[in-house]
Amino acid sequence: MDRRHFLQGAAAVGISGAFGCASMGAAPSKGRVVVVGGGYGGATAAKYVRLFSGGAIEVTMVEPNPAFVSCPISNLVIGGYKTLADLTTSYDALDRKHGVKRLRDSVVAIDAAGKTVKLASGGALAYDKLIVAPGVDLMYDRIEGLQAANASGRILQAWKAGPETVALRAQLEAMPDGGVYAITIPEAPYRCPPGPYERACQVASYFKRAKPRSKVLILDANQDVTSKGPLFKRVWADQYKGIVEYRPQHNAVQVDAGAKIVKFDVQQDVKADVLNVLPMMRAGVIAVQSGLANVNGRWCNVDYQTFESTAMRDVHVIGDSIQIAPLMPKSGHMANSHAKVAAAAVTARLLDIEVNPVPMLTNTCYSFVDDKNVIHVASVHRYDADKKTFLTVPGSGGVSAGPTDLEGQYALSWARNIWADTLG
Ligand SMILES: Cc1cc2nc3c(=O)[nH]c(=O)nc-3n(C[C@H](O)[C@H](O)[C@H](O)COP(=O)(O)OP(=O)(O)OC[C@H]3O[C@@H](n4cnc5c(N)ncnc54)[C@H](O)[C@@H]3O)c2cc1C
Repeated sequence: MDRRHFLQGAAAVGISGAFGCASMGAAPSKGRVVVVGGGYGGATAAKYVRLFSGGAIEVTMVEPNPAFVSCPISNLVIGGYKTLADLTTSYDALDRKHGVKRLRDSVVAIDAAGKTVKLASGGALAYDKLIVAPGVDLMYDRIEGLQAANASGRILQAWKAGPETVALRAQLEAMPDGGVYAITIPEAPYRCPPGPYERACQVASYFKRAKPRSKVLILDANQDVTSKGPLFKRVWADQYKGIVEYRPQHNAVQVDAGAKIVKFDVQQDVKADVLNVLPMMRAGVIAVQSGLANVNGRWCNVDYQTFESTAMRDVHVIGDSIQIAPLMPKSGHMANSHAKVAAAAVTARLLDIEVNPVPMLTNTCYSFVDDKNVIHVASVHRYDADKKTFLTVPGSGGVSAGPTDLEGQYALSWARNIWADTLG
Protein backbone atom coordinates (compact mmCIF):
# COMPACT_ATOMS: atom_id res chain seq x y z
CA MET A 1 0.00 0.00 0.00
CA ASP A 2 1.46 3.40 -0.89
CA ARG A 3 1.09 6.47 1.31
CA ARG A 4 -2.04 7.69 -0.46
CA HIS A 5 -3.80 4.36 -0.01
CA PHE A 6 -2.62 3.98 3.58
CA LEU A 7 -3.85 7.44 4.50
CA GLN A 8 -7.12 6.83 2.67
CA GLY A 9 -7.62 3.76 4.85
CA ALA A 10 -6.41 5.44 8.01
CA ALA A 11 -8.73 8.41 7.44
CA ALA A 12 -11.67 6.09 6.95
CA VAL A 13 -11.19 4.56 10.39
CA GLY A 14 -9.64 7.48 12.29
CA ILE A 15 -5.86 7.88 12.35
CA SER A 16 -5.84 8.60 16.09
CA GLY A 17 -6.58 4.93 16.65
CA ALA A 18 -3.56 3.77 14.71
CA PHE A 19 -0.89 3.88 17.37
CA GLY A 20 -2.55 3.36 20.71
CA CYS A 21 -4.24 0.37 22.23
CA ALA A 22 -6.56 2.40 24.41
CA SER A 23 -8.25 4.16 21.51
CA MET A 24 -8.29 0.94 19.48
CA GLY A 25 -10.81 -0.62 21.82
CA ALA A 26 -13.27 2.21 21.15
CA ALA A 27 -13.42 1.76 17.36
CA PRO A 28 -16.16 -0.59 16.14
CA SER A 29 -14.69 -3.74 14.59
CA LYS A 30 -14.55 -3.76 10.81
CA GLY A 31 -13.69 -7.42 10.68
CA ARG A 32 -11.70 -10.27 12.19
CA VAL A 33 -8.33 -11.40 10.92
CA VAL A 34 -6.67 -14.55 12.21
CA VAL A 35 -2.94 -14.98 11.60
CA VAL A 36 -1.40 -18.46 11.70
CA GLY A 37 2.23 -18.28 12.84
CA GLY A 38 4.24 -15.57 14.59
CA GLY A 39 7.47 -15.69 12.57
CA TYR A 40 8.82 -13.06 10.18
CA GLY A 41 5.69 -13.18 8.03
CA GLY A 42 2.92 -13.72 10.57
CA ALA A 43 4.04 -11.30 13.29
CA THR A 44 4.57 -8.52 10.72
CA ALA A 45 1.16 -9.15 9.16
CA ALA A 46 -0.58 -9.12 12.55
CA LYS A 47 1.03 -5.81 13.52
CA TYR A 48 0.45 -4.13 10.15
CA VAL A 49 -3.24 -5.06 9.86
CA ARG A 50 -3.69 -3.27 13.18
CA LEU A 51 -1.63 -0.27 12.01
CA PHE A 52 -3.11 0.01 8.52
CA SER A 53 -6.67 -0.27 9.83
CA GLY A 54 -6.10 2.21 12.63
CA GLY A 55 -7.09 -0.49 15.08
CA ALA A 56 -10.49 -1.07 13.42
CA ILE A 57 -9.79 -4.70 12.51
CA GLU A 58 -9.48 -7.32 15.25
CA VAL A 59 -6.38 -9.45 14.85
CA THR A 60 -5.66 -12.74 16.60
CA MET A 61 -2.25 -14.34 16.08
CA VAL A 62 -1.88 -18.05 16.85
CA GLU A 63 1.69 -19.16 17.59
CA PRO A 64 2.87 -22.05 19.80
CA ASN A 65 6.25 -20.58 20.80
CA PRO A 66 6.49 -18.27 23.82
CA ALA A 67 8.90 -15.85 22.09
CA PHE A 68 10.26 -15.07 18.62
CA VAL A 69 13.63 -16.66 17.82
CA SER A 70 15.33 -15.39 14.65
CA CYS A 71 16.94 -17.67 12.07
CA PRO A 72 18.84 -14.70 10.60
CA ILE A 73 22.00 -14.30 12.76
CA SER A 74 21.55 -17.87 14.11
CA ASN A 75 24.56 -19.11 12.12
CA LEU A 76 26.65 -16.87 14.42
CA VAL A 77 25.57 -19.07 17.34
CA ILE A 78 27.04 -22.01 15.46
CA GLY A 79 30.24 -20.01 14.87
CA GLY A 80 30.39 -19.24 18.61
CA TYR A 81 29.89 -15.47 18.30
CA LYS A 82 26.27 -15.07 19.50
CA THR A 83 23.91 -16.79 21.93
CA LEU A 84 20.31 -17.85 21.45
CA ALA A 85 19.32 -15.04 23.84
CA ASP A 86 20.74 -12.53 21.32
CA LEU A 87 18.23 -13.82 18.73
CA THR A 88 15.18 -13.89 20.98
CA THR A 89 12.54 -11.14 21.13
CA SER A 90 9.38 -11.04 23.24
CA TYR A 91 5.97 -10.91 21.55
CA ASP A 92 4.66 -8.56 24.27
CA ALA A 93 4.73 -5.35 22.18
CA LEU A 94 2.32 -6.90 19.66
CA ASP A 95 -0.45 -6.99 22.25
CA ARG A 96 0.66 -4.10 24.45
CA LYS A 97 1.35 -1.52 21.73
CA HIS A 98 -0.75 -2.79 18.84
CA GLY A 99 -3.68 -4.63 20.38
CA VAL A 100 -3.00 -7.96 18.66
CA LYS A 101 -4.68 -10.79 20.54
CA ARG A 102 -2.20 -13.62 20.97
CA LEU A 103 -3.00 -17.26 21.48
CA ARG A 104 -0.23 -19.66 22.44
CA ASP A 105 -1.62 -22.55 20.43
CA SER A 106 -1.39 -24.19 17.01
CA VAL A 107 -3.89 -24.27 14.16
CA VAL A 108 -4.62 -27.88 13.21
CA ALA A 109 -7.30 -27.42 10.54
CA ILE A 110 -8.78 -24.74 8.28
CA ASP A 111 -12.46 -24.79 7.35
CA ALA A 112 -12.50 -22.40 4.39
CA ALA A 113 -16.23 -22.83 3.77
CA GLY A 114 -17.16 -22.14 7.40
CA LYS A 115 -14.38 -19.53 7.75
CA THR A 116 -13.00 -20.99 10.97
CA VAL A 117 -9.73 -22.52 12.12
CA LYS A 118 -9.48 -25.34 14.62
CA LEU A 119 -6.95 -25.08 17.44
CA ALA A 120 -4.81 -27.86 18.91
CA SER A 121 -6.26 -27.02 22.33
CA GLY A 122 -9.71 -27.92 21.01
CA GLY A 123 -11.35 -24.54 20.37
CA ALA A 124 -12.09 -22.79 17.10
CA LEU A 125 -11.68 -19.22 15.84
CA ALA A 126 -13.88 -17.50 13.27
CA TYR A 127 -12.31 -15.17 10.69
CA ASP A 128 -13.25 -12.84 7.88
CA LYS A 129 -9.72 -13.04 6.47
CA LEU A 130 -7.07 -15.60 7.35
CA ILE A 131 -3.31 -15.01 6.92
CA VAL A 132 -1.27 -18.22 6.94
CA ALA A 133 2.49 -18.00 7.61
CA PRO A 134 3.72 -21.34 8.97
CA GLY A 135 7.23 -21.27 7.46
CA VAL A 136 8.69 -24.52 6.16
CA ASP A 137 8.40 -28.21 6.92
CA LEU A 138 11.56 -30.32 6.60
CA MET A 139 10.87 -33.41 4.45
CA TYR A 140 12.77 -35.93 6.57
CA ASP A 141 11.25 -38.86 4.71
CA ARG A 142 13.16 -37.92 1.54
CA ILE A 143 16.41 -39.12 3.18
CA GLU A 144 16.32 -42.65 4.56
CA GLY A 145 17.18 -42.81 8.25
CA LEU A 146 17.10 -39.04 8.77
CA GLN A 147 13.95 -38.80 10.88
CA ALA A 148 15.29 -41.32 13.41
CA ALA A 149 18.76 -39.73 13.31
CA ASN A 150 17.19 -36.36 14.14
CA ALA A 151 14.96 -37.81 16.86
CA SER A 152 17.99 -39.37 18.57
CA GLY A 153 19.87 -36.04 18.32
CA ARG A 154 22.69 -37.58 16.31
CA ILE A 155 22.17 -35.80 12.97
CA LEU A 156 20.76 -32.29 13.28
CA GLN A 157 19.45 -29.70 10.86
CA ALA A 158 19.17 -26.51 12.98
CA TRP A 159 17.13 -24.96 10.15
CA LYS A 160 14.61 -23.51 12.63
CA ALA A 161 16.52 -21.49 15.20
CA GLY A 162 16.18 -22.85 18.73
CA PRO A 163 17.50 -25.75 20.80
CA GLU A 164 18.89 -27.54 17.70
CA THR A 165 21.07 -24.53 16.93
CA VAL A 166 22.66 -24.83 20.38
CA ALA A 167 22.92 -28.63 20.08
CA LEU A 168 24.74 -28.36 16.73
CA ARG A 169 27.20 -25.91 18.26
CA ALA A 170 27.78 -28.40 21.11
CA GLN A 171 28.52 -31.17 18.58
CA LEU A 172 31.19 -28.94 16.97
CA GLU A 173 32.70 -28.13 20.35
CA ALA A 174 32.87 -31.83 21.22
CA MET A 175 34.49 -32.74 17.88
CA PRO A 176 38.24 -33.43 18.04
CA ASP A 177 40.70 -31.22 16.14
CA GLY A 178 41.30 -32.93 12.81
CA GLY A 179 37.63 -33.91 12.47
CA VAL A 180 35.23 -33.23 9.60
CA TYR A 181 31.95 -31.25 9.59
CA ALA A 182 29.76 -31.91 6.52
CA ILE A 183 26.66 -29.97 5.52
CA THR A 184 24.36 -31.30 2.79
CA ILE A 185 22.19 -28.85 0.84
CA PRO A 186 18.92 -29.86 -0.90
CA GLU A 187 17.95 -28.80 -4.38
CA ALA A 188 16.56 -25.25 -4.51
CA PRO A 189 14.08 -23.87 -3.58
CA TYR A 190 14.75 -24.13 0.15
CA ARG A 191 14.65 -21.68 3.08
CA CYS A 192 17.42 -19.05 2.80
CA PRO A 193 19.51 -19.74 -0.33
CA PRO A 194 22.81 -18.36 1.10
CA GLY A 195 22.21 -19.79 4.60
CA PRO A 196 24.09 -23.09 4.20
CA TYR A 197 27.13 -21.37 2.68
CA GLU A 198 27.14 -18.78 5.47
CA ARG A 199 26.99 -21.64 7.97
CA ALA A 200 29.96 -23.35 6.30
CA CYS A 201 31.91 -20.07 6.71
CA GLN A 202 30.93 -19.84 10.38
CA VAL A 203 32.08 -23.39 11.10
CA ALA A 204 35.30 -22.76 9.15
CA SER A 205 35.89 -19.57 11.15
CA TYR A 206 35.51 -21.55 14.38
CA PHE A 207 37.83 -24.30 13.15
CA LYS A 208 40.48 -21.80 12.02
CA ARG A 209 40.41 -20.28 15.49
CA ALA A 210 40.05 -23.37 17.68
CA LYS A 211 40.58 -26.59 15.63
CA PRO A 212 42.87 -25.69 12.71
CA ARG A 213 43.36 -29.27 11.46
CA SER A 214 39.62 -29.75 10.93
CA LYS A 215 37.69 -29.62 7.65
CA VAL A 216 34.34 -28.33 6.35
CA LEU A 217 32.72 -30.24 3.50
CA ILE A 218 29.86 -28.63 1.58
CA LEU A 219 27.87 -31.32 -0.26
CA ASP A 220 25.41 -29.54 -2.53
CA ALA A 221 22.60 -31.18 -4.52
CA ASN A 222 22.62 -28.15 -6.82
CA GLN A 223 24.85 -27.67 -9.86
CA ASP A 224 26.63 -24.77 -8.22
CA VAL A 225 26.44 -22.40 -5.23
CA THR A 226 22.88 -21.02 -5.36
CA SER A 227 23.53 -17.51 -3.95
CA LYS A 228 26.49 -15.11 -3.97
CA GLY A 229 28.52 -17.92 -5.58
CA PRO A 230 31.63 -16.02 -6.74
CA LEU A 231 31.85 -14.20 -3.40
CA PHE A 232 31.57 -17.33 -1.27
CA LYS A 233 34.04 -19.20 -3.47
CA ARG A 234 36.56 -16.39 -3.14
CA VAL A 235 36.19 -16.42 0.67
CA TRP A 236 36.72 -20.20 0.77
CA ALA A 237 39.82 -19.90 -1.44
CA ASP A 238 41.33 -16.88 0.34
CA GLN A 239 40.25 -17.09 3.94
CA TYR A 240 39.57 -20.81 4.42
CA LYS A 241 42.04 -22.48 2.06
CA GLY A 242 42.63 -26.06 3.14
CA ILE A 243 39.61 -25.95 5.47
CA VAL A 244 36.55 -25.65 3.17
CA GLU A 245 35.88 -27.97 0.26
CA TYR A 246 32.87 -27.46 -2.02
CA ARG A 247 31.37 -30.42 -3.92
CA PRO A 248 28.35 -29.76 -6.23
CA GLN A 249 25.84 -32.37 -7.48
CA HIS A 250 25.69 -34.31 -4.21
CA ASN A 251 22.07 -35.32 -3.65
CA ALA A 252 21.77 -37.00 -0.22
CA VAL A 253 19.44 -40.02 -0.12
CA GLN A 254 20.34 -41.93 3.06
CA VAL A 255 22.13 -41.51 6.38
CA ASP A 256 23.67 -44.01 8.78
CA ALA A 257 23.73 -42.14 12.08
CA GLY A 258 25.73 -44.84 13.89
CA ALA A 259 28.50 -44.94 11.29
CA LYS A 260 28.19 -41.16 10.65
CA ILE A 261 27.84 -41.70 6.93
CA VAL A 262 25.74 -39.91 4.34
CA LYS A 263 24.95 -41.62 1.03
CA PHE A 264 24.17 -39.93 -2.31
CA ASP A 265 22.23 -40.99 -5.38
CA VAL A 266 25.33 -40.96 -7.60
CA GLN A 267 28.43 -39.82 -5.68
CA GLN A 268 30.49 -41.77 -3.16
CA ASP A 269 29.51 -42.00 0.51
CA VAL A 270 30.93 -39.40 2.88
CA LYS A 271 31.86 -40.00 6.51
CA ALA A 272 32.04 -37.04 8.88
CA ASP A 273 32.32 -36.43 12.63
CA VAL A 274 29.47 -33.91 12.57
CA LEU A 275 26.78 -34.33 9.93
CA ASN A 276 24.37 -31.44 9.28
CA VAL A 277 21.95 -32.90 6.75
CA LEU A 278 19.32 -30.55 5.29
CA PRO A 279 16.50 -32.37 3.51
CA MET A 280 14.17 -30.91 0.87
CA MET A 281 11.62 -28.47 2.22
CA ARG A 282 7.97 -27.63 1.65
CA ALA A 283 5.33 -25.29 3.06
CA GLY A 284 4.59 -25.63 6.77
CA VAL A 285 2.51 -28.66 7.80
CA ILE A 286 -0.82 -26.82 8.17
CA ALA A 287 -0.49 -25.45 4.62
CA VAL A 288 0.14 -28.92 3.21
CA GLN A 289 -2.56 -30.66 5.28
CA SER A 290 -5.24 -28.05 4.55
CA GLY A 291 -4.73 -28.19 0.78
CA LEU A 292 -3.19 -24.72 0.47
CA ALA A 293 0.02 -26.23 -0.93
CA ASN A 294 -1.33 -26.65 -4.47
CA VAL A 295 2.04 -26.63 -6.30
CA ASN A 296 3.28 -30.24 -6.37
CA GLY A 297 1.90 -30.64 -2.85
CA ARG A 298 4.86 -28.55 -1.69
CA TRP A 299 4.29 -24.81 -2.07
CA CYS A 300 1.23 -22.52 -1.99
CA ASN A 301 0.22 -20.68 -5.12
CA VAL A 302 -0.97 -17.13 -4.45
CA ASP A 303 -2.30 -14.15 -6.38
CA TYR A 304 0.83 -12.02 -6.00
CA GLN A 305 -1.07 -8.71 -5.88
CA THR A 306 -2.73 -9.66 -2.58
CA PHE A 307 -1.10 -12.97 -1.55
CA GLU A 308 -4.58 -14.53 -1.54
CA SER A 309 -4.40 -18.28 -2.01
CA THR A 310 -5.48 -19.65 -5.39
CA ALA A 311 -6.90 -22.65 -3.50
CA MET A 312 -9.09 -20.87 -0.90
CA ARG A 313 -10.88 -17.54 -0.91
CA ASP A 314 -10.17 -15.07 1.91
CA VAL A 315 -7.07 -17.03 2.89
CA HIS A 316 -3.73 -15.29 2.27
CA VAL A 317 -0.41 -17.15 2.42
CA ILE A 318 2.91 -15.37 2.99
CA GLY A 319 6.56 -16.13 3.74
CA ASP A 320 8.49 -19.30 3.03
CA SER A 321 5.35 -21.34 2.33
CA ILE A 322 4.53 -19.70 -1.00
CA GLN A 323 5.46 -20.67 -4.52
CA ILE A 324 8.01 -17.98 -5.26
CA ALA A 325 7.97 -15.54 -8.17
CA PRO A 326 11.15 -15.43 -10.32
CA LEU A 327 14.29 -14.48 -8.36
CA MET A 328 12.34 -14.18 -5.10
CA PRO A 329 14.29 -15.80 -2.24
CA LYS A 330 12.73 -17.55 0.73
CA SER A 331 13.99 -15.08 3.33
CA GLY A 332 12.90 -13.33 6.50
CA HIS A 333 13.17 -9.97 4.77
CA MET A 334 10.90 -11.22 1.97
CA ALA A 335 8.40 -12.68 4.45
CA ASN A 336 8.27 -9.29 6.19
CA SER A 337 7.70 -7.63 2.79
CA HIS A 338 4.99 -10.14 1.74
CA ALA A 339 3.31 -9.50 5.09
CA LYS A 340 2.93 -5.77 4.49
CA VAL A 341 1.45 -6.30 1.02
CA ALA A 342 -0.97 -8.92 2.35
CA ALA A 343 -1.86 -6.80 5.41
CA ALA A 344 -2.57 -3.82 3.15
CA ALA A 345 -4.73 -5.92 0.79
CA VAL A 346 -6.69 -7.51 3.64
CA THR A 347 -7.21 -4.11 5.27
CA ALA A 348 -8.28 -2.53 1.97
CA ARG A 349 -10.83 -5.26 1.31
CA LEU A 350 -12.29 -5.18 4.80
CA LEU A 351 -12.50 -1.37 4.76
CA ASP A 352 -13.78 -1.33 1.21
CA ILE A 353 -11.00 0.75 -0.31
CA GLU A 354 -8.92 0.16 -3.44
CA VAL A 355 -6.27 -2.55 -3.25
CA ASN A 356 -2.81 -1.25 -4.24
CA PRO A 357 -2.48 -2.13 -7.95
CA VAL A 358 1.35 -2.11 -7.94
CA PRO A 359 2.76 -3.52 -4.70
CA MET A 360 6.54 -3.63 -4.27
CA LEU A 361 8.82 -5.91 -2.28
CA THR A 362 12.42 -5.49 -1.15
CA ASN A 363 15.01 -7.96 0.00
CA THR A 364 18.51 -7.92 1.44
CA CYS A 365 20.30 -11.04 2.66
CA TYR A 366 23.53 -10.50 4.60
CA SER A 367 25.97 -13.37 5.18
CA PHE A 368 28.67 -13.32 7.85
CA VAL A 369 31.82 -14.96 6.50
CA ASP A 370 33.49 -14.75 9.95
CA ASP A 371 32.74 -12.89 13.19
CA LYS A 372 32.47 -9.44 11.56
CA ASN A 373 32.95 -9.42 7.78
CA VAL A 374 29.81 -9.61 5.67
CA ILE A 375 28.60 -9.85 2.05
CA HIS A 376 25.10 -9.08 0.86
CA VAL A 377 22.69 -9.61 -2.03
CA ALA A 378 19.78 -7.19 -2.49
CA SER A 379 16.81 -6.86 -4.87
CA VAL A 380 13.62 -4.86 -5.45
CA HIS A 381 10.53 -6.54 -6.96
CA ARG A 382 7.52 -4.78 -8.53
CA TYR A 383 4.15 -6.41 -9.25
CA ASP A 384 3.46 -6.60 -12.98
CA ALA A 385 -0.31 -6.51 -13.53
CA ASP A 386 -0.07 -7.92 -17.08
CA LYS A 387 2.14 -10.84 -16.16
CA LYS A 388 0.48 -11.21 -12.73
CA THR A 389 3.79 -11.78 -11.00
CA PHE A 390 6.62 -9.88 -9.32
CA LEU A 391 9.54 -8.90 -11.53
CA THR A 392 12.86 -7.50 -10.32
CA VAL A 393 13.25 -3.81 -11.03
CA PRO A 394 16.04 -3.37 -13.58
CA GLY A 395 19.15 -1.81 -12.05
CA SER A 396 17.96 -2.34 -8.47
CA GLY A 397 19.93 -4.33 -5.91
CA GLY A 398 23.14 -6.20 -6.56
CA VAL A 399 25.87 -7.89 -4.54
CA SER A 400 28.88 -6.75 -2.50
CA ALA A 401 32.28 -6.32 -4.11
CA GLY A 402 33.73 -8.37 -1.25
CA PRO A 403 33.39 -8.90 2.50
CA THR A 404 33.83 -5.85 4.75
CA ASP A 405 33.34 -5.10 8.42
CA LEU A 406 31.25 -2.04 7.47
CA GLU A 407 28.72 -4.46 5.97
CA GLY A 408 28.98 -6.40 9.24
CA GLN A 409 27.72 -3.31 11.05
CA TYR A 410 24.95 -2.89 8.45
CA ALA A 411 23.95 -6.53 8.93
CA LEU A 412 23.57 -6.18 12.69
CA SER A 413 21.61 -2.93 12.19
CA TRP A 414 19.42 -4.72 9.63
CA ALA A 415 18.64 -7.40 12.25
CA ARG A 416 17.80 -4.87 14.98
CA ASN A 417 15.61 -2.92 12.55
CA ILE A 418 13.67 -5.87 11.19
CA TRP A 419 13.06 -7.25 14.70
CA ALA A 420 11.72 -3.83 15.73
CA ASP A 421 9.62 -3.59 12.55
CA THR A 422 8.21 -7.10 12.95
CA LEU A 423 7.65 -7.14 16.71
CA GLY A 424 8.18 -3.69 18.22
C1 LIG B 1 20.40 -20.48 9.26
C2 LIG B 1 19.45 -19.51 8.65
C3 LIG B 1 19.87 -18.22 8.37
C4 LIG B 1 18.99 -17.31 7.77
N1 LIG B 1 19.43 -16.04 7.52
C5 LIG B 1 18.59 -15.13 6.96
C6 LIG B 1 19.01 -13.79 6.75
O1 LIG B 1 20.16 -13.42 7.04
N2 LIG B 1 18.13 -12.92 6.20
C7 LIG B 1 16.85 -13.28 5.89
O2 LIG B 1 16.09 -12.43 5.42
N3 LIG B 1 16.42 -14.57 6.07
C8 LIG B 1 17.25 -15.49 6.59
N4 LIG B 1 16.81 -16.78 6.84
C9 LIG B 1 15.47 -17.20 6.35
C10 LIG B 1 14.34 -16.81 7.30
O3 LIG B 1 14.55 -17.34 8.58
C11 LIG B 1 13.02 -17.35 6.76
O4 LIG B 1 12.90 -17.07 5.40
C12 LIG B 1 11.85 -16.71 7.55
O5 LIG B 1 11.89 -17.16 8.88
C13 LIG B 1 10.51 -17.04 6.89
O6 LIG B 1 9.48 -16.45 7.62
P1 LIG B 1 8.07 -17.22 7.80
O7 LIG B 1 7.20 -16.29 8.57
O8 LIG B 1 7.63 -17.76 6.51
O9 LIG B 1 8.45 -18.48 8.69
P2 LIG B 1 8.99 -18.51 10.20
O10 LIG B 1 9.75 -17.28 10.53
O11 LIG B 1 9.65 -19.82 10.37
O12 LIG B 1 7.67 -18.47 11.08
C14 LIG B 1 6.74 -19.52 11.04
C15 LIG B 1 6.03 -19.55 12.39
O13 LIG B 1 4.81 -20.27 12.26
C16 LIG B 1 4.61 -21.05 13.42
N5 LIG B 1 3.71 -22.14 13.03
C17 LIG B 1 3.95 -23.16 12.19
N6 LIG B 1 2.86 -23.93 12.07
C18 LIG B 1 1.90 -23.38 12.84
C19 LIG B 1 0.55 -23.72 13.13
N7 LIG B 1 -0.03 -24.81 12.61
N8 LIG B 1 -0.15 -22.93 13.98
C20 LIG B 1 0.42 -21.81 14.53
N9 LIG B 1 1.71 -21.45 14.30
C21 LIG B 1 2.42 -22.23 13.46
C22 LIG B 1 6.01 -21.48 13.82
O14 LIG B 1 6.08 -21.82 15.19
C23 LIG B 1 6.84 -20.25 13.46
O15 LIG B 1 6.99 -19.38 14.57
C24 LIG B 1 17.67 -17.70 7.46
C25 LIG B 1 17.25 -19.01 7.74
C26 LIG B 1 18.12 -19.90 8.34
C27 LIG B 1 17.65 -21.27 8.65
